Amino acid sequence: MTNASRKCVVIHNGSCSTVAGFSNMELPKCIIPSSYVKRNNDEKRIFGTFEMLDETEKNESTSNVYTLIDGRGYPYNWEDLEAQWRYIYEEHLKVSPAELPLVISVPASNGDTDMKIMEKFFDLAFNKLKVPILQILIEPLAIALSMGKSSALVVDIGARGCNVTPIVDGTVVKSGVMKSKFGGDFLDYQITNSEFFNKEYDATNLSSCEMWFSSNTWLQQFKSTMLQVSDKNYSELERYYELQRQQQQQQQQAFPNFALNPLTQKKNFLFKKSKTVTLELRDSYKLAESLFEPKDALKAQGESQVQSHSQPHLQQPASNIGLSELMSKSIRKAGAGVSSTGTLGGGGTGASLTLNEKGSQHNTNASSNSQLTNGVANPATSGITSEQVYSLLLTNVIITGATSLIAGMEQRIINDLSIRFPQYKLTTYANQIMMDRKVQSWIAMNSMSNLPNWELGKWYTKQDFDLLKQSQSHKN
Ligand code: ATP
Repeated sequence: MTNASRKCVVIHNGSCSTVAGFSNMELPKCIIPSSYVKRNNDEKRIFGTFEMLDETEKNESTSNVYTLIDGRGYPYNWEDLEAQWRYIYEEHLKVSPAELPLVISVPASNGDTDMKIMEKFFDLAFNKLKVPILQILIEPLAIALSMGKSSALVVDIGARGCNVTPIVDGTVVKSGVMKSKFGGDFLDYQITNSEFFNKEYDATNLSSCEMWFSSNTWLQQFKSTMLQVSDKNYSELERYYELQRQQQQQQQQAFPNFALNPLTQKKNFLFKKSKTVTLELRDSYKLAESLFEPKDALKAQGESQVQSHSQPHLQQPASNIGLSELMSKSIRKAGAGVSSTGTLGGGGTGASLTLNEKGSQHNTNASSNSQLTNGVANPATSGITSEQVYSLLLTNVIITGATSLIAGMEQRIINDLSIRFPQYKLTTYANQIMMDRKVQSWIAMNSMSNLPNWELGKWYTKQDFDLLKQSQSHKN
């Protein structure tokens, strides 16, 4: 296949939204929820943002919202995923799946690739949809490489949680991949259970339609307009302003009322047509602080109650620590992992996921397409010290995911990392265009599928799938 005729379909299935489009276009064709509505008495699945909003607003007792992606970021409901991809092809892309190559993504993981999941992807693409060729990209690796960075710390704050992925010399350092369950859904839970809404909105007794509708309407608006991340730990911030107020009061004894605490500034949010909710600035900070200090929020509400807001039935195999702690742990683990073995524990370099004939995971080198197996030392990184790894990661911190759009997030990440790693230079990269940050994974996948040569990516055909199946059956 020549580059001139190159055009692929690119689909990114996030836990909250699915983004799809063509590789020869700058912007995706559609951004739809990674969920659907189904009525009990009807076989039809309702996909699409507006279609789902219309249906969930009715809040009929026979309708329910179902999700497609599990807490690890992998699909768990393959029939429904097939239905979603068919809907995307028919309604938005208006091409047959058999016409164009397909590029999809998987999250980085700290273990070996689950071969059952890869088999399901191949089965869906080759047997069910008859896709001619398929490329599977590792999402954070594609983000880093598409920004021209072969080493980076990718901090993705999405809906289901936060994923931190260290990448050194084009390879995911598996030992440093960290996940927490504190993301946009956790914030939704905090907001709806806060004193401002718990009288208006009984979060304990909602149907899945009501939950989904709230998550995708007023809660999203509330997070983007009302929440603010403080530049330091919230309790320090309170102490700082209180001290400042006392000093001002002493200096202006004649006008004590002018010494106001800025945290008491009022902010209004139009919750319902005739209901305005008023918060103080301190409340905006306090709610957003739950991403950094989730223990305090968990203590206040009882740990066992905290579940993903829009997907309450799913358990999340993730860490219980806040964002700053998560980043710092990831960096330290990556440093220890790489320097102790001189290897990257995840194979070679390049964003495409490669599976050897034995079924273990490795990557292809974007420049040489060399096949490296799991755990083989990468000469470029042999003998690298943990300090060098820290430095590589800290000078390339990429902040992505729509929850990172909350005001003040980037500054707080910089401040917290500089406290934890004071001797290192720190540089962060966060796309300042709101829409681009929301679809950053898709844009990165798009760039990776547009490399100047087809051979730079690892493309699978149906024959590869058959070989993989054969080797799996020999193993069993
Ligand atoms: P994941 O990364 O968990 O797989 P995803 O990639 O589908 O999920 P994103 O689209 O990155 O998730 O993030 C979705 C979350 O971001 C939702 O909780 C949504 O409410 C929230 N969100 C969307 N826009 C904003 C905004 N402007 N400010 C704050 N939060 C936002």
